[in-house]
Amino acid sequence: MKIEKDRVVRFHYTVSEVGQPPLESSKDREPIAILIGHNNIIPGLEAAMQDRQAGDSFSVDVPAAEAYGERREGLVQRIPKKHFGDMRLQPGMQVVLQTNFGPRAVTVQKVGLSVVDVDLNHPMAGKDLHFDVEIVEVREATAEEIEHGHVHGDGGHEH
Ligand code: ZN
Repeated sequence: MKIEKDRVVRFHYTVSEVGQPPLESSKDREPIAILIGHNNIIPGLEAAMQDRQAGDSFSVDVPAAEAYGERREGLVQRIPKKHFGDMRLQPGMQVVLQTNFGPRAVTVQKVGLSVVDVDLNHPMAGKDLHFDVEIVEVREATAEEIEHGHVHGDGGHEH
């Protein structure tokens, strides 16, 4: 069965910045599952999956614009230190902040006595990424999954 819109793909991936060692891999966990055609993964990777099937392996370079987007200036915010609790903060460190829009990964830029400057860009914004992908399974999505816009069961949402 080929990968196309409204099908569920389970796959393993390893991601790195182009030319760099791996940043993250699913190989030591269960494969992840996504619903194709519902903006569940970065556009460049979804496009590279089209028409492939279970058992296929491939590598693809995804430019920043089709991954997590270009870095944007003016996304640095100054936040009272108390919001970070007891964390030992260091420049370059990534932390998850609770915001009005839910949890958000930010990068610490500068640590002051009472305030912290954080960069709200996605940690992978502005980066060209290299993916090694191994397709494990392709199946039809259920009507409920399509309605919810995400996968249920193995590798997906449990609710
Ligand atoms: Zn659901």
